[in-house]
Amino acid sequence: MVKITKEEAIFCEKSYMGETDCVDCKYYATDTCKSRETHRMAVKALEQYCEDVGELSDGYHTFNQLYHQRAVLFACIVKQNKNKAWKSFKHSDGKYCFDSNGEWFIVGIDTPQGSYTYHYAKEYWDMFDCQELECGKEWDGHTEEDVTRLLSLEQQYCDDCVSREATIDLVADFDLSMDQVVRGIHALPPVAPSRPKGHWISHIEHCENLGLRPSGLGAYMWCSNCDCGIDINEFHRNHYNFCPNCGADMRKSEE
Ligand SMILES: [Zn+2]
Repeated sequence: MVKITKEEAIFCEKSYMGETDCVDCKYYATDTCKSRETHRMAVKALEQYCEDVGELSDGYHTFNQLYHQRAVLFACIVKQNKNKAWKSFKHSDGKYCFDSNGEWFIVGIDTPQGSYTYHYAKEYWDMFDCQELECGKEWDGHTEEDVTRLLSLEQQYCDDCVSREATIDLVADFDLSMDQVVRGIHALPPVAPSRPKGHWISHIEHCENLGLRPSGLGAYMWCSNCDCGIDINEFHRNHYNFCPNCGADMRKSEE
């Protein structure tokens, strides 16, 4: 493919039309201009490039495939943040997105750091499981660089999860009837499920804790949460941040 910028192509086209100087020979373009044919081919290549840009590939994925991937991934984020997400065929000024008369819609999420939005073709409308608005929310000035706002989204509470501690407190109150306990559990606020925290215990420390003499040197790393032992080589090979047995988060809080 001929490499040429759009400005160059426009210039070439003008040259070809005899409106200006030739981009190559710098003289007024004429029918006999040597580079005329080259320019014409370059313009054609650019036109074709613009038409098929969706099918342009980096050798692995085309633009169309990547846009589809982005749509599906954003739909997953929206699904998990339904109460913060919205979609509309119109912008906040009441006009259809890109004056498309409903061919395109905007979908956004309000993150703790501000909102983030994308536009998608109407074919994707049903994939986004969130509130429908007559008009989209007002643009808060976010640009492409603000995509990292999505990382500030916190894990959502789960309707079916309540605090273990609060439930035990309730059940442990012997003055309550079973009926009151059941109603109390129903009334508990939902919480976000969270991983237990833990840390790795060296083999020597583990043996000391048990009052034993270490038999081998550092053969295992032990999970403080579930007490499973990981072979030291496997441990180092995988750089475990989480216990592979119980899922405990082994990262220090500042990480
Ligand atoms: Zn564990």
